[in-house]
Amino acid sequence: MDFRKLPSVLLPDELVEISFSRAKKESRALSGRIPRQLRVKRSETVKVKSVSSFIRKHFGKVVDRTSGLKTLDPFYHELVDLVVGVENIEKSLEKLTWAVETVVKLEKRTVKRIKRSRSNEVIYKARREFYGKVVSVLNKSERDIESLNLMFKKLRRLPSVESCFTVVVAGMPNVGKSTFVGCISSAKPRVESYPFTTQKILLGYFERERIRYQVVDTPGLLDRPLDRRNKVEKQAILALRHLADVVLYLFDLSGICGYPIDEQLKLYRELTDMFNVPVVPIINKSDLLKEAEIEHFSALVGDDVFLCSSLDEHGIEEIVKRITEESAKKELDEFDFS
Ligand code: GDP
Repeated sequence: MDFRKLPSVLLPDELVEISFSRAKKESRALSGRIPRQLRVKRSETVKVKSVSSFIRKHFGKVVDRTSGLKTLDPFYHELVDLVVGVENIEKSLEKLTWAVETVVKLEKRTVKRIKRSRSNEVIYKARREFYGKVVSVLNKSERDIESLNLMFKKLRRLPSVESCFTVVVAGMPNVGKSTFVGCISSAKPRVESYPFTTQKILLGYFERERIRYQVVDTPGLLDRPLDRRNKVEKQAILALRHLADVVLYLFDLSGICGYPIDEQLKLYRELTDMFNVPVVPIINKSDLLKEAEIEHFSALVGDDVFLCSSLDEHGIEEIVKRITEESAKKELDEFDFS
């Protein structure tokens, strides 16, 4: 779903102004030499139908353009819930549907009344009453229209991620995550922001054998232990869990990043427990390390550790290979043999 295409909803005053003046123009455009009473009947019917149709079309477009919100993938569902609450959108959209249904009912009733009527006075009165009721229906929807506009404004700022195989990069600050994303991506990564925090999201892409891979760095989200996070950050991390097909956890053993190794290991173990996908340990900045340090650390981690330098690209291809293996595994898992 493209959040940037979420519509703006016209406010009751705007709807009234536009639809009433259109109705007037349409009724004036009626031509032909016909008896006065018939002309009044026609022109007032046209006004009623025109107002109803404008409101139906406008709200219909809003409901249509938001239909994708019902089938969001889990990552976006979590984010939309976090930013505005999926239920709040649904409730406000229901109000628009109610408004359309009510206006259409009023239109039908008024058109019938006009048809049956023999006096111009009664015809004018029926149309005026219809206008009055439309204004009142729209006013009853005002709060929901305003809140939809506010919610859409926030959602338009959601980062747009692709649904291809996704690699999430984690690790404490300064271990080299963003440099790594730049190094593994074929073009300069794109920076987008989350609307609920000042945090950014960095999105890089590369391709192997015509398969597209997305590499994501979320500075400020996966770089601290969970117990130091607020509710919003925790939920944003939950959303990332849906996005990740594999997590690459970067270590910096050089001491330059400023975080001791045991702290980095603690976060690594925490993320390994939290994510339901493989978390691959990677020693970055290998250009600064001695072999003995690497061996000692690898034994400490216990898992297969990759080694790389995002500065001179050493070890990057092995990591890419590991990623493509995970993607092939995922494809096999998703294949239905039955
Ligand atoms: P992040 O906070 O984890 O995203 O870390 P950055 O990507 O901003 O990198 C922090 C610092 O480490 C920067 O000065 C990088 O140039 C440096 N850096 C990143 N990768 C490497 C590497 O492989 N070798 C060396 N020597 N420095 C690196």
